[in-house]
Amino acid sequence: MSTATELRTKYEPVIGLEVHVQLLTRSKIFCACSTRFGDPPNSNTCPVCLGLPGALPVLNRAAVTMAMKAALALNCAINPRSRFARKNYFYPDLPKGYQISQYDEPLAEFGWVDIEAEGKPKRIGITRVHLEEDAGKSLHEGFPDSDRASYIDLNRSGVPLIEIVSEPDLRSPEEAYEYVTRVKLLMLYLEVSDCNMEEGSLRCDANVSVRPAGTEAFGTKTEVKNLNSFKFLQRALEYEIDRQIAIVEGGGTVEQETRLWDSREQRTYGMRSKEMAHDYRYFPEPDLLPLVIGEEWKEEVRRSLPELPEARRQRLIREYALPEADAAQIVASKALADYYEEAAKASGEPKATANWVLTELLHLLNEAGKEVSQSPVSASNFGELVAMVSKGSISGRMGKDVLAEMTATGKRASEIVAEKGLTQVSDPERIRAAVREVMAASPKQLEQYRAGKAATLGWFVGQVMKATRGQANPQIVQEILKRELEKSEIRS
Ligand SMILES: [Zn+2]
Repeated sequence: MSTATELRTKYEPVIGLEVHVQLLTRSKIFCACSTRFGDPPNSNTCPVCLGLPGALPVLNRAAVTMAMKAALALNCAINPRSRFARKNYFYPDLPKGYQISQYDEPLAEFGWVDIEAEGKPKRIGITRVHLEEDAGKSLHEGFPDSDRASYIDLNRSGVPLIEIVSEPDLRSPEEAYEYVTRVKLLMLYLEVSDCNMEEGSLRCDANVSVRPAGTEAFGTKTEVKNLNSFKFLQRALEYEIDRQIAIVEGGGTVEQETRLWDSREQRTYGMRSKEMAHDYRYFPEPDLLPLVIGEEWKEEVRRSLPELPEARRQRLIREYALPEADAAQIVASKALADYYEEAAKASGEPKATANWVLTELLHLLNEAGKEVSQSPVSASNFGELVAMVSKGSISGRMGKDVLAEMTATGKRASEIVAEKGLTQVSDPERIRAAVREVMAASPKQLEQYRAGKAATLGWFVGQVMKATRGQANPQIVQEILKRELEKSEIRS
């Protein structure tokens, strides 16, 4: 064991995550401005999201509904009454001088997400889910005078977010990765966010501490920010855990602080402590009424929840008799699961369809650099192809060629097979005729076969396949060949 690995087993990391998810509403949370990403800077703004004095916020019902969906899918209890609060701090991309968030009365609490840790199921607690507005964006790069000036784009100011806060139940960077993956998948199934990490619609901060393995008391935690990709999340946690272990081993104490992950340098570093900025002087937002959610609204949202990944995985196993691993791989993407089910219905062969989807479809998408949703072959056409292979009207080998042709031309499998005359020949009479012709033309090989050279059989199969331009069903060719060769032995 290396020293680092040895030290790691001496300590137990304790990790809690705060995941921010941008909601896919069309307008912002407290005004009617568009939430569209990529529009010209500051074009989607109004007095409310610019924070002009006297402008009043009005809560977007769609944002609340989406947040409720997320909370219910995370097994949270939705509070009948919650309240918005002002989180006061100064930053150039926050013109009001405060962010409208929720504090002591959040939208929802007491949930959980089940993950798998070292092959075993593990439940991670969700402390709370609350609603808040996003801040604007500071642009420090990409302008001619970026060395002296920063620019502010307030298009993002007021875009609705939910913050999902986990209990400190995660014990390794791998568990943290698995947890965020599950949360992201849930949000995608719910269609409440696109969870695009590059565009910042899913962001993650981590609270990290270490303690000697086997002890109960928590060590001092640091908050690591800027974990804007799954890869960074895992690396940053690994780095921070090792950093804290080294401090404790060296007899020092971990300082409670906020640290930023620097992906270029692959390390975390302490932020200038915002004058111990932890005191945000929260107080209830006086411009908004408390958020009251009645049973009826809650039930309406509950009824609108789609089938979630775990339920879908179990159904695929039950309904289509899929192996566990295949089902898990298919539901790991909603688009892939949708594609699979449509293709399976079209083919009537769910198991073969799963094989073809997980190998051939993923391969072709990978080659083309495309997502499932952009597949050049539609799910029903894909299903038709699988059906033709399953029924034996074309061979698996031909199926792959036909799929390549479908990808290139957008034509259906049946069209291509008809055009090229590719249909597999399974008619025994036609195959027997070809077998006899080959045998008659190959006296030398017949001699060898009779002399006990079993390998010659393969050569005969090849010749028959060639004679039928690859269209003969190879299994039937084998059977007929063996029979005909035996007969010729008896005759000779
Ligand atoms: Zn606005």
